[in-house]
Amino acid sequence: MTAEIAPATTNQNKANNFLRQRIADDLETGTTKRVVTRFPPEPNGYLHIGHAKSICINFGLAEAFGGHCHLRFDDTNPEKESQEYIDAIIDDLHWLGFQWHGDTRFASDYFEQLHQWAKLLIGKNLAYVCDLSPEQARAYRGSLTEAGRNSPYRERSADENLALFEKMTAGEFDEGHCVLRAKIDMSAPNINLRDPIIYRIRKFRHHRTANKWCVYPTYDFTHGQSDAIEGITHSICTLEFEDHRPLYEWFLQQLPVPNQPRQFEFSRLNVNYTVTSKRKLKHLVDAGLVDGWDDPRMPTISGMRRRGYAAQSLRNFCDSTGVTRVNGVVDMSQLEFAVREHHNVNAPRAMVVMQPLKIVLGNYDASDAEQLRAPNHPQNEAMGSRSLPFGRELYIDREDFRESANKKFKRLVLGKKVRLRNAYVIFAESVVRDEQGEIVEVHCSYDPATLGADPPDGVKPKGVIQWVSAAHAVGIEVREYDRLFRIENPERAGSDEQALLESVNPNSLRVHRNCLAEPSLAEARPEQVFQFEREGYFVADRHQHTSAKPVFNKTIGLRDSWGKVDNQASNSGAK
Ligand code: ATP
Ligand code: MG
Repeated sequence: MTAEIAPATTNQNKANNFLRQRIADDLETGTTKRVVTRFPPEPNGYLHIGHAKSICINFGLAEAFGGHCHLRFDDTNPEKESQEYIDAIIDDLHWLGFQWHGDTRFASDYFEQLHQWAKLLIGKNLAYVCDLSPEQARAYRGSLTEAGRNSPYRERSADENLALFEKMTAGEFDEGHCVLRAKIDMSAPNINLRDPIIYRIRKFRHHRTANKWCVYPTYDFTHGQSDAIEGITHSICTLEFEDHRPLYEWFLQQLPVPNQPRQFEFSRLNVNYTVTSKRKLKHLVDAGLVDGWDDPRMPTISGMRRRGYAAQSLRNFCDSTGVTRVNGVVDMSQLEFAVREHHNVNAPRAMVVMQPLKIVLGNYDASDAEQLRAPNHPQNEAMGSRSLPFGRELYIDREDFRESANKKFKRLVLGKKVRLRNAYVIFAESVVRDEQGEIVEVHCSYDPATLGADPPDGVKPKGVIQWVSAAHAVGIEVREYDRLFRIENPERAGSDEQALLESVNPNSLRVHRNCLAEPSLAEARPEQVFQFEREGYFVADRHQHTSAKPVFNKTIGLRDSWGKVDNQASNSGAK
């Protein structure tokens, strides 16, 4: 596949595309009175980023043209489907910010009607019960270059077929004994028209209809008729259904359906370094390689939510990928751009020290401990400010101190100054080592004249670093993630489960248990996102964060280098 990297602008969906144009034309000519779209997930797994795109398109078009969008579960395969998935999908849609029109719908609501229509086709001599085994049926089907052959059961009479279909429905045959097929054309160039299966025997309890049925309609027999029942005007799906469109239309022509929906296809969303297939994601869950479907490394909507991606970012990203009929792969950085863009504007700032190193301010009297104030956002005063306790003993990040360094190291160096973000300028005087020779404390002095002001001697420190007060800091756990897959195209593994599992990055999770945060972070609500200054964006874990045991997931790093961040916020600290 060639890379198709769309520009990362937002609201492309509001820009013109062939689907919008088509709907606009249909409304203008009166072919369509009110546009009705639907999002039709099969509840056989959690939704992923590709579904988010389909959701944005379907709901977005309905909204743009003052129409409706339905949610319809395509629940025709009881073996793979469950209530857990239904609940998760509903939760994802609400979180993404979409509400469907009317009730939650299910293809299984139409099983009775579909069964009637199957019998109607039999009565019209357009469907028959076929006893070929799956292997035989494959041999009869022919190939792309070779016509198929008629099944020996093709000429059964309508009465015989009706009786057999009733027996299938009554559970008198074992699974696989026979199927109901449409009678179309075994020599059709389009293989989908070579007498496709419309009903099969499945002896599974269905999550909604329980044991009522032991025959289930196929996707092809269900989808278009469900669209017709619901008055869907534009049935939008991905390109792999293009070859099914003649079949979709054939059923609608043969049956007394109340409406004639039209099918339109667009290209699937693929993103590099990940997979967009529920089946493949399920392998990862089942193999225990991730902590469930909503593991923050997963490309599922619930995983990205738990990772701290904003719903708005996902919608902006989906819009930015455009709507086309050309298959391609979108670069993960385009998604990450949308995530940062949102949080940069919306996430309050906080200070966290990932690897604490103690600082003792020799000239600061412990009894002088004070409360400083820090703005929650450097560019947005409306986000308010917070109190930051300051004292004689602090922690900074171990990586922000060196005994000696060249000029490129704009942090604390022995014999030099650095500014503490939102506080004073300090000067490193000496170090204390433990028995192994490791530095455990840095003794410094602070300059009381530098709170919100440049040093009186006019020598400004080169850098600004984050810190926390030793007496007030709260311990937090931080989970840091890397890409879930080692390789750019994990889809390459195809359907080879082992190859897929082997392409998983074994080091995609690092847990830091000894981080220290400013005290305000203990009050974070689950799912609240912060920018930990100089570190990146982090979210309080949806499930495990509590004020007694704060847990944050790293959403994403800061794109900007530290130098740039320095320039954005003032170098003089806050008052
Ligand atoms: P999966 O293989 O992950 O199960 P699917 O297409 O079988 O995907 P469905 O639940 O049947 O999943 O899909 C619901 C809707 O989402 C369909 O209209 C489908 O075309 C669309 N969809 C699924 N994957 C993508 C994708 N990667 N990009 C855009 N739309 C998608
Ligand atoms: Mg599917």
